[in-house]
Amino acid sequence: MSKQEDAPDGVPNSASAKPPPKPEPPKLDPVYYTWSSTFSILMGRYVTGNRDVPLERNYFEEMDAIKAESYCKRCETNRDYLLQYSPIVKFLKDEVGKLGGDLNGKNIHCRMCTAEQSGGFHVDHGIMLCANKFRNRGHQEDTMAHEMVHAWDHLKYKVEDNNLRHQACLEIRASTLSGECRFAREFFTKNQWRITEQLQNCVRRRATLSMLARPGIKDDVHATKVVNEVWDSCFHDTRPFDEIYR
Ligand SMILES: [Zn+2]
Repeated sequence: MSKQEDAPDGVPNSASAKPPPKPEPPKLDPVYYTWSSTFSILMGRYVTGNRDVPLERNYFEEMDAIKAESYCKRCETNRDYLLQYSPIVKFLKDEVGKLGGDLNGKNIHCRMCTAEQSGGFHVDHGIMLCANKFRNRGHQEDTMAHEMVHAWDHLKYKVEDNNLRHQACLEIRASTLSGECRFAREFFTKNQWRITEQLQNCVRRRATLSMLARPGIKDDVHATKVVNEVWDSCFHDTRPFDEIYR
């Protein structure tokens, strides 16, 4: 079964990029999460046909809250680990620092996301990581790096939020440099990377996916067109990396 690919991120406007408030840790009522209550809920539901609806609702709300809390905790633990140990995250944090920005555990937020995306960046709010979307720590690392490239670009260039060509350029750079398309990358000789067709295809696909989530984009044909317009200058601009990382 093939899972649909999530966009790296979506609309960078203030409404959607602002991280929602963090859920309060659930107050656990042991009635709702014991095996016996699970069992009686399922029994009522599927076997006897007698459903205790309020009990069910409370039970599943509490299970969601417990899940959200554990997803966010894992995301924060991984975030702190990556800030300390991931070469690409540390490198980007330093480069953002050189431009006067400070990315840290306070402005890299872990939240539950409903949209088909794994992260987001906003100039005022920082980076949002979709705690429930990560397959593993490597996936979270790619997403952090992707959003950190956006942060670097916003400090380095004058990025216009409503300029689709600017946005497409940001997405091309972030997908090329973050490691999202790592599998498609081939090192050729020492200090020289080879731009394979696979890498280009992967970056085009990821950038187009991110563009599709924006209001100014009509459809995938439009998204592809904007990505193509800026492709040459943006794909080859590997600053602050001298070469594609890793
Ligand atoms: Zn992006």
